[in-house]
Amino acid sequence: MDKLNWEFTGMEHDLESILLTGEQIQSRVRELANLIAEDYMADGGMDARGPVVVCILKGAVMFYADLIRFMPIPISIDFISISSYGSKTASSGEVSLKKDLDGKIEGRVVLIVEDIVDSGLTLSYLLRMLSARNPRSLKVAALLDKPSRRRVPFQADYIGFAIEDKFVVGYGLDFDQLYRNLPMIGVLKPECYEP
Ligand code: 5GP
Repeated sequence: MDKLNWEFTGMEHDLESILLTGEQIQSRVRELANLIAEDYMADGGMDARGPVVVCILKGAVMFYADLIRFMPIPISIDFISISSYGSKTASSGEVSLKKDLDGKIEGRVVLIVEDIVDSGLTLSYLLRMLSARNPRSLKVAALLDKPSRRRVPFQADYIGFAIEDKFVVGYGLDFDQLYRNLPMIGVLKPECYEP
């Protein structure tokens, strides 16, 4: 039924290939959720309130919702929104804060959840900004990683999948705000973004 619906909208036809199916994503996200929860429990680095898990809006929203749903530990949630400037398929590295966290993170265990690490500039900026607030610890979980695109050294603590240098959409990732609600991740056909 799902398949018919997606075909009907035509969104799936804009994909040149499907890189990760919904099932592959779900299975890896559950693994990551357990791994993260075990690490926090094992290193004794968790206070009674557990980590503050921060979603970077909007791209990480699907990953975030699935990840926290399968983390069997107490957590608090918070959201941050940043915008990066550049072309529609590559960021320039200039980043600005659109919405800050609601809560304070001083002395707290913090996990940042991001959709994809590309140049590494967004997360480097964010880590610098949040470290200055003196959290007890600060880690990053990213669903996707494009290591070949780095412009600054950056290594996330948890990675779902390392992928090639292709522009991908789906499962939260957009092109011009479209495709975020696809359950899979695919490579967008160049004719969909090239003029
Ligand atoms: P960075 O600062 O690491 O270059 O870029 C991170 C941001 O660029 C991601 O949060 C994401 O919004 C965007 N981005 C990087 N690669 C892709 C991609 O392949 N597809 C989409 N939709 N966004 C991407």
